[in-house]
Amino acid sequence: MTLAASSPSTPGARASRPRKQDDSDRPAMNTPHKVSQAALDLLAGEHRALVGEDWVAGAGGEAKPIIDPADGNPIASVPPASLEQADDAVAAARAAFLDRRWSGQTPAHKQRVLLHVAELIERDAQTLAELETLNGGKLYAAALHGEVAHAAETFRYYAGWCTKLPGATFDPSVPGQRFHGLIRNEPVGVAVQIVPWNGPLVMAAWKLAPALAAGCSCILKPAEITPLTALYLGRLLLEAGVPEGVVSVLPGPGGRLGQHLARHPEVNKVAFTGSTEVGKQLLADARGNLKRLSLELGGKSPVLIFGDADLPRAIAGAADAIFANAGQVCVAGSRVYAEQSVYREVLDGLAETARGLRLGPGLDPDSEMGPLISASHRDSVHDLVQSGVSEGARLVAGGEPLAGQGYFYPPTVFADAGEEMRITREEVFGPVVTVAPFDTAEEALRLANQSRYGLAASIWTGDLARGHETAESLESGIVWINSHGIPELSMPIGGYKQSGWGREHGLEGLNIYMETKSIMARMD
Ligand code: NAD
Repeated sequence: MTLAASSPSTPGARASRPRKQDDSDRPAMNTPHKVSQAALDLLAGEHRALVGEDWVAGAGGEAKPIIDPADGNPIASVPPASLEQADDAVAAARAAFLDRRWSGQTPAHKQRVLLHVAELIERDAQTLAELETLNGGKLYAAALHGEVAHAAETFRYYAGWCTKLPGATFDPSVPGQRFHGLIRNEPVGVAVQIVPWNGPLVMAAWKLAPALAAGCSCILKPAEITPLTALYLGRLLLEAGVPEGVVSVLPGPGGRLGQHLARHPEVNKVAFTGSTEVGKQLLADARGNLKRLSLELGGKSPVLIFGDADLPRAIAGAADAIFANAGQVCVAGSRVYAEQSVYREVLDGLAETARGLRLGPGLDPDSEMGPLISASHRDSVHDLVQSGVSEGARLVAGGEPLAGQGYFYPPTVFADAGEEMRITREEVFGPVVTVAPFDTAEEALRLANQSRYGLAASIWTGDLARGHETAESLESGIVWINSHGIPELSMPIGGYKQSGWGREHGLEGLNIYMETKSIMARMD
């Protein structure tokens, strides 16, 4: 599990220092973060599912060992919820929605409860960040100051919307009759929310906060391999005052449990974040009762660096865009296109950064990049890298999994990757980037838009007008100019093309949990 913590549930030797990517023998300076007793106790304890009003042992089969990807050792064991328990959760959510124990509360009350959730996340931030690090392979500081803090902010942001939800009135034009027209936004009902493993807490917050602000009842299904912080969040919601039965948290496998929930006739809405393949499958699963469906899917996001960019900043930004969280980020900048005049410098700069990054467990403050989430994911990353090599792309840095414990994969940079190669077209979801030159802005746009995905992009230039002009032509749900990957709750995010349906964040992110109702009252 960690360098510092000792726990009966985490046997086995540990790597004692981060692995270096180059020969510069920088000493490890800091002592590893010591995992709190609260987190150790939690890991060693029983992990129950929240099914309606009850915490129950998952009855869906053998308990799943939860692994620390930094060393491959088990840190906990979580039994999956059964399909019957999923039915119970749906029934509880439906009952809670119908008796209006949450949706019928005043907006001010809902706001206070969601603000309280944010406070509780901050109160327990250390434990939550430790769990994200131990289970998700994240750097502890990034988990604490980034994802956990952002999860709290998400509840705070949507708490604000509770008292500000807009409706509208109209004077209808019915000849000879007077009407008062009213347009109301109402909660969609029971929402199933399915999230992936790359941001277990923050993705759960992005789903639950807007849905609860809208007044929905929710069933959250975390990824089978990272259920710990989602279950923890379930406890915090109850402590904050979300009524029992309104939220269930069901750990378990996607293919069985997730599909069962997505097909359930008493569910009104499915909000999904994950791969494009599973997203497409959900179209069929949601069809039976025409569930509302929002999909946050994969990406292959381009990074365009123009010759007039502040190059050190652009190179550092492009490196961060692909190597943060070991590239396991939906908006990862996995295709860099650099103007011919700066192409060499960009390629060398990225390769140098890649070789210099320290890989190591997230609890070690000297680590600059953590492991991939699992052995099988590392295999799939390496498979794509090998396809790049065999199809003729040139490896400039990385490219071989690291030996030893844990699922570490080095930051990897390719040059000369052709447009048709798998490594250019397919989402790797790892620290792997292709770098290619362009001659004109038109060519840069053509290359950038030549993808089935359209989630995110960034443009690096000293000319803001050029930046805006380029942004308008990119087929992408979000575009950053002179930055990449900055999350902002007021800015909707979601996919063009096969990167998804609908938007999260902002008012759009709330509207996906709403139905619109028109009421016409005759006044004469
Ligand atoms: P995944 O699609 O395999 O799984 C995502 C979730 O869906 C998990 O909870 C899983 O258990 C569940 N699931 C799997 N099969 C299912 C099925 N048939 N029916 C219902 N649920 C099912 O994705 P992953 O490997 O966990 O995550 C990585 C993917 O997620 C990448 O493609 C990444 O780009 C994407 N992602 C997108 C965003 C975004 O906002 N667009 C954010 C993060 C991750």
